[in-house]
Amino acid sequence: MFKSLHMKLMLIMLLLITSLMAVVGAFLTTNVSSFYIDSFREQMNDMFGSDVEADGVALAKNASFMSDLLSAAEVADGANQMQDILDANAGKLGIDYRTRNYYILDGSSGAVLVKSDEIDTTLAATPNLLSALNGKVGDKSDLTADYMDVAIPLSGGENGYIIYILDSRATVSSLNSQLFTIIMQALVIGLLISVLFSYLLSKTLVGPIEKVTEGAERLAGGDFGNKLPVESPDEIGILTGTFNHMADVLQDSLNAVENERNKLDTLFLHMTDGVVAFDHDGTLIHCNPAATQLLQRSIPKETVFDELFGSVYPLAQILTLQRPNYADAEMMVSDKTLELYFAPFSDKASGGVLVVLHDETEHHRSEERRKEFVANVSHELRTPLTNVRSYAETLRDSGGDIPQATADSFLDIIITETDRMTHIVQDLLTLSRLDAGNTEMNFSRFDFGASISSVVRANALEAKRRSHELKLEPAQSLPLIFGDRQRLEQVMMNILGNAIKYTPDGGHILVTAGTAGEHVWMEVSDDGIGIPEKDRDHIFERFYRVDKARSRESGGTGLGLSIAKEIVERHHGTIRLARHDGPGTTVRLTLPIRLEDLQA
Ligand code: ADP
Repeated sequence: MFKSLHMKLMLIMLLLITSLMAVVGAFLTTNVSSFYIDSFREQMNDMFGSDVEADGVALAKNASFMSDLLSAAEVADGANQMQDILDANAGKLGIDYRTRNYYILDGSSGAVLVKSDEIDTTLAATPNLLSALNGKVGDKSDLTADYMDVAIPLSGGENGYIIYILDSRATVSSLNSQLFTIIMQALVIGLLISVLFSYLLSKTLVGPIEKVTEGAERLAGGDFGNKLPVESPDEIGILTGTFNHMADVLQDSLNAVENERNKLDTLFLHMTDGVVAFDHDGTLIHCNPAATQLLQRSIPKETVFDELFGSVYPLAQILTLQRPNYADAEMMVSDKTLELYFAPFSDKASGGVLVVLHDETEHHRSEERRKEFVANVSHELRTPLTNVRSYAETLRDSGGDIPQATADSFLDIIITETDRMTHIVQDLLTLSRLDAGNTEMNFSRFDFGASISSVVRANALEAKRRSHELKLEPAQSLPLIFGDRQRLEQVMMNILGNAIKYTPDGGHILVTAGTAGEHVWMEVSDDGIGIPEKDRDHIFERFYRVDKARSRESGGTGLGLSIAKEIVERHHGTIRLARHDGPGTTVRLTLPIRLEDLQA
């Protein structure tokens, strides 16, 4: 109920006014009472002189009054005479015959002889009266009593007299009750005014605070557009200004955070590595498209860490890592090898784990290819070396017992095997230079048709020796092309040489050529042994041979087509097996006419 500032202010005001009035009331009533008592005592002191003393100093202010009284007391009708004196001085004594009266009592019995009021009062035996009965002036005042009195013993007559002045304090009581009424009225008016004031005050104070609160709520809702008006230069105005400034700073910070997030989002969206983030409970926070692709599965929001990587690395162990440490592991997804990096992204309990997925498949494959290549090279070189060694040993160990013709044939084999090794080494050198990209190419514009004719002519003898029918059917006109003539002729030689090699004697080999758009092409078809379906994709690989024995027999290294492919690719061309109906093979070479344009 008293939670709102309105109510609190009002309550404070009410309490303030009430307590103020209570203090004023108490102060006033106390002061009125003591003033009344003081003035009574003063009057008595003035009249009764040194017999009534306030502080022990003897005073005789009204000596004639006292001496009159004393002389009246001496005569026979003393009491009545004294009454006359008292009546004559009633004004000075404050005797009003209602609230303050005088009594003349018998000095020893205390019986009332004369009195000023008409009422039949019985006097109470007050301490002052008792003191007078004992012959002493009774002038002690008692603040707690509801009366004031003074009792003066006088000698005279038979027993002496006591003049007793008694004030019922009714005047001060009625004054106090009037004061009380006034204070209560003032209190009611004060309360009404305080309610009004507290309302106005709270309006002035709370209004702007409520506006700032509304602004804060709008801010919390993401609305930074509306600035709060600064209506006054006071503390509330400063608060509003500070609040506006805070909103600006907050907006700037949020914009900066938003920018950063957008940058990260874009990065995550387009990076080729997969990124998956989990909180410390293992619940998915973020996952980029590359991760979905690499893991080859959909990753819905409810996916947890254990479902994806639990078998690879335990989450709890990653969370214990101190940044920037990370853990890595390998994971196979169908035929892909993924390298996984696990890192905690915050040391705090609210942190989590970031998993980066990198596709290592290609790296693995090329590593395997490299190993395979090294194994192939060793194997290819070992076979001729073994042959050379065994024939050379035989010759050495024979001690000249071998017939000359046999020895010569052994030496021929040694020379052939050495040539083969030289071939292999040369081919490997060519390939490694092409791989390294430091093969010097002598580019020039040359006649594509003339090159084909020259290659066909160079192979005519070998074709004839194998009883092949070698035909060249070039298009009417072939353009000049740009390239390394020598190397491209080496490619053509390889294709045509293979056709001659892998076609049984008496076969038919057809060389055709033409242009297609921006390209020239050459096809070599034979009706030879052909290439089985399963091997078609592989014959451009290094050391790949369909029939190893046959290839080796014909002096092949298994590197010719792979070198050809490298050279053609350096010319932005293609070399591939074309569709071939019937037995045999067709190899098609395509080259751009204006290579210089492509290189530019
Ligand atoms: P090689 O030195 O063994 O001829 P290549 O790289 O030139 O090596 O050829 C690779 C393999 O492709 C050959 O070993 C052969 O098995 C096959 N090949 C190439 N051309 C033909 C063709 N015209 N007919 C049948 N097989 C072929």
